[in-house]
Amino acid sequence: MSGVLDADTLKNALIGDGITDETVLDTIHAIPRELFVPAAFRERAYENSPLPIGLHQTISQPTVVAMMTQALELNDRVKILEIGTGSGYQTAILAKICRRVYTIERHKPLLSEAEERFRTLGLNNIVTRYGDGSMGWKEQAPFSRIIVTAAAIDVPHVLLEQLDVGGIMVVPVGLEERTQHLLRVRKLEDDIETEDLGLVRFVPLVSDEEAG
Ligand code: SAH
Repeated sequence: MSGVLDADTLKNALIGDGITDETVLDTIHAIPRELFVPAAFRERAYENSPLPIGLHQTISQPTVVAMMTQALELNDRVKILEIGTGSGYQTAILAKICRRVYTIERHKPLLSEAEERFRTLGLNNIVTRYGDGSMGWKEQAPFSRIIVTAAAIDVPHVLLEQLDVGGIMVVPVGLEERTQHLLRVRKLEDDIETEDLGLVRFVPLVSDEEAG
């Protein structure tokens, strides 16, 4: 495996992995990933791989970020809810494309660092919340899009209820690390339509009621 060392080579790696949406490719190209990784990993910031961000969490692999962003079919009218801010890398990409991003993270230090990055990048259409996102954000619902960046056991019903009819949710589902599938769920009038976008590997979505 060869390392990917700058934004141009990263973009080419994403194209090689089948990402076709120009807006997604250009947005990822424009966001400095080195800002979102710990200093010790800065030299590896443009590798197409996940990296540790502390507290046993990771910044997602760029291909996975691109796949999820592309699957969401975004535009500048979208109001999106993100569960699992982590480093804020995915959040920043969403903020460039969408009207407003609501993002929830249950690790305070990670959220504070992410907020600092949003300030540095002048992203002022992101609303953050510290806490358990598995219940969504009722006061701000409904959302036209929802993205979950941690693996759920099943498609979370509470979140589906907070999604507009015609809206899209992208969520990794599966208990085992090796058998998580990235699902795209479309909410129809009386039904949902689910597509399997392939295997992925995410840290678990932790509900604070079950956390120790
Ligand atoms: N998209 C992020 C990846 C985050 S990793 C990035 O690119 O950096 C998943 C994140 O989800 C972790 O930070 C974890 O703390 C958070 N998380 C897990 N369960 C959660 C929950 N119930 N509510 C909010 N955040 C949660």
